[in-house]
Amino acid sequence: MLYKSTRGNETVLSSKAIVDGIAPDGGLYVPVSVPSLDLSELLSKSYQELASNVLSLYLTDFSEQEIKCSVYKAYDEKFVDEIVPIKYLEGRSILELYHGKTLAFKDMALSILPYLMKKASKRLGIKEEIVILTATSGDTGKAALEGFADVEGTKIVVFYPSEGISDIQKHQMVSQKGNNTFVFGIKGNFDDAQSAVKSIFLDDELKKQLKSDGFVFSSANSINIGRLVPQIVYYIHGYLEHVRKGLIELGDEMNVVVPTGNFGNILAARYAKEMGLPIKKFICASNENAVLSDFIKTGIYDLDRPFKVTNSPSMDILISSNLERYLSLIGEDVNDLMMKLKTEKKYEISENGKKAMSDFFGHFATERETLSKIKSVYENEGYLLDTHTAVAEVVYDYYKKESGDETLSLIASTASPYKFTRDVLKSISDDLLLDDDFELIKILSAKTGLEIPKSIETLSEDEVRHPHVISKVSIKNTVETILR
Ligand SMILES: *Cc1c(COP(=O)(O)O)cnc(C)c1O
Repeated sequence: MLYKSTRGNETVLSSKAIVDGIAPDGGLYVPVSVPSLDLSELLSKSYQELASNVLSLYLTDFSEQEIKCSVYKAYDEKFVDEIVPIKYLEGRSILELYHGKTLAFKDMALSILPYLMKKASKRLGIKEEIVILTATSGDTGKAALEGFADVEGTKIVVFYPSEGISDIQKHQMVSQKGNNTFVFGIKGNFDDAQSAVKSIFLDDELKKQLKSDGFVFSSANSINIGRLVPQIVYYIHGYLEHVRKGLIELGDEMNVVVPTGNFGNILAARYAKEMGLPIKKFICASNENAVLSDFIKTGIYDLDRPFKVTNSPSMDILISSNLERYLSLIGEDVNDLMMKLKTEKKYEISENGKKAMSDFFGHFATERETLSKIKSVYENEGYLLDTHTAVAEVVYDYYKKESGDETLSLIASTASPYKFTRDVLKSISDDLLLDDDFELIKILSAKTGLEIPKSIETLSEDEVRHPHVISKVSIKNTVETILR
């Protein structure tokens, strides 16, 4: 299996694609062809066996032993209960992707990426230290820090928007331990952080200087293909679980509903379909930063709109990097579109592209709809959603109403309600919430009886180790200073 840039034709092996993070021409690495699945063969497999199977189809320059070793180290007892439990509600199922250490779905890929990265760098004979530069809208940062903390031969640097993320998310990051971890708030939003980090990756002068000082850059963002491949696994797992339970038969179709920001998670589902998983509709749920759901409706990607800070902050994104991979998959002229995005802040895809997108449905949820959804699902079904998953539920309602489609749907639940305690509690209770977020964790637990996840039980006692907030224009400077 070889990988090429969405903006060029030169091919590389997966180990190179993973260590590079982003292609030298600024494009993202994509597999030149998509392998296919034999679902009936996978039916009896455990999560780890399934993951080993899928990964070995994509990462063909890794040995079977290397893949198995990475998979079993990543998906171990760090995951509480099961790796990906599923809750079966009325007409739909919730794929709980947040049972890893940092309580968001980012753990699914970032638990394994450090192992893959180390093996890839060894294979390529890289002597330099790998510096993982990470922009986060709140959840990637912590999951990447957890994954790379004290991993020999690496440093991890995270930039998060200092305003807008939840107190729990922030404290998880600023209290991060490990001698190789660096965390900075920026006065700016996720798009600012991601653009700055991308431009550092493409700064040849800086890269040359750092190489002579013994460093190379890589990425833990979903621009890294090593993030995408492990995410394909859980959609297949979700489907097979439904077959094992007798809810569908092998070959039946299902829908997936994904709360979307950088388009990484839903793209993984699209790749699963390309491999043969019978997915009927991809229901792309946006929050009020509805650039993606508008794109799916119109075929026009238009950045000319205000950036909003919402109660689903991990989806507060306007420049969705992974869409570029999807455009490449459906045969669009990526170079042309990305140039237009840069110069005109807007592009429109071809008529063929719009036709190819007919298996997508897009809509957005307002903040108010999100909160009232948490309340109604809790009161009617006794199930507690986080704000991001609630966005997905709201949009799923729009889809059903518009289409009349009752096909069984798998809703990707991307975070624990405890990560967004204030908004979750606000939606299910009439009390004035005067306490700090850590107090609210206890109140939420007392009210709902839902067990507090171990990894945040004593979080408030962890000291702040990374207090710095910097301006967005000094991101590059900060990186240089750390590495000097
Ligand atoms: C990152 C994130 C999303 C968005 O996922 P993308 O892959 O960026 O589309 C949604 N919900 C939560 C909780 C997240 O952390």
